[in-house]
Amino acid sequence: MSNSQSWIKRGLTHVAKTYGRYPLVAASGEGCWLTDIDGKKYLDFLAGVAVNNLGHCHPEVVAALQDQAGKLLHCSNFFHIPQQIELAEILCEHSFGDRVFFCNSGAEANEAALKLVRKYSLDNHGDDRIEIITGKNSFHGRTIATISATDQEKISTGFGPLLPGFKYVPFGDIEAIKATISSKTCAIMLEPIQGEGGINIPPEGYLQAVRELCDQNGLLLIFDEVQVGLGRTGKLFAYQHDGVEPDVMTLAKALAAGPPIGAMVVREKYATALGPGTHGSTFGGNPLLAAAGVAAMKIYLKGSVLKNSVTMGDYLKAKLEQLQTKYTFITQVRGRGLMVGMELTIEGGEIVKTALERGLLINCTAGKILRFVPPLIVTQQEIDQMIEILDKIFSEIRTGE
Ligand SMILES: *Cc1c(COP(=O)(O)O)cnc(C)c1O
Repeated sequence: MSNSQSWIKRGLTHVAKTYGRYPLVAASGEGCWLTDIDGKKYLDFLAGVAVNNLGHCHPEVVAALQDQAGKLLHCSNFFHIPQQIELAEILCEHSFGDRVFFCNSGAEANEAALKLVRKYSLDNHGDDRIEIITGKNSFHGRTIATISATDQEKISTGFGPLLPGFKYVPFGDIEAIKATISSKTCAIMLEPIQGEGGINIPPEGYLQAVRELCDQNGLLLIFDEVQVGLGRTGKLFAYQHDGVEPDVMTLAKALAAGPPIGAMVVREKYATALGPGTHGSTFGGNPLLAAAGVAAMKIYLKGSVLKNSVTMGDYLKAKLEQLQTKYTFITQVRGRGLMVGMELTIEGGEIVKTALERGLLINCTAGKILRFVPPLIVTQQEIDQMIEILDKIFSEIRTGE
């Protein structure tokens, strides 16, 4: 039995079965490459689901962790934490925000945002303005509140009763939002580009129109940038493409380029709703993870990684579009920066499995959309290698035409 096989056997015995895992046992990573326990190398166009934006084990992030690990691993939020303060300063200096609440994941960042808008609304408008409008097919996490925030049954079935107070609208449809806003609405929460929902880019002008509706009706606007933020789309934050600013933004995935950290960034006017004792997290913004966040942010802010996200994103899209001219089962290539989806007329699951066997990591979301979210440091040569593997797999597909 190979090392991988024996780990897989053990993994199936005591680890919760919440994931349908592929037969890969991860051992190490460098740049855009992941190596398994038997030494096989994989070209990683999944990047831990848009987490490893700087590639695996970026030396500056690793050095920050090593340095901080020898000084102080953890310290309660009862006290001031320099690394956390520095990360908050960086995030505010480079966004619309004035204050940051730190947590450990995307779902927690969204929980914080949901608590904040409810509390702000209660403090300012009384207790019946509690409804939050969210996008159909959105994804905001796996806690009870965040599964309630999407209408996706595959995520929420079996966990009811869900949290009341959410209204769902088709993503990209401004009229639907107008028709849904009522005297009970307090906020609108959207992903600027839907990730798990299938790399759905809203029509031009949509986010501006949503911002205007929020202003006209006194609603808070939350952007979930957990997947699209931190250079993924070619800008530090995806909202910067659209010339609009939210009131609250949630971040996680790539914030420390690997280590788990989440954040809710908010305008001062609304931040006051969460005073001492109203919300918290034991680990949130702890010295170790915040140090990694500072190191990662400094690299994003140098700019070359973001630029590469734009140029390599365009290159990747052009290459995928070439494949589209060859294969009739490809219906669309879409994306922004290095957040790219390829829509198929067939299920993508088998393609993902075959790619894995051939040393390529991609994934499939919303059934028929192949998702490409490589590290933002990916090279043209690596994209060419990826395309070659994919082209070969596509050429072997029998669609029964
Ligand atoms: C991944 C994701 C989340 C959830 O993040 P977790 O860290 O898994 O809790 C929330 N929103 C979006 C848009 C995401 O892509």
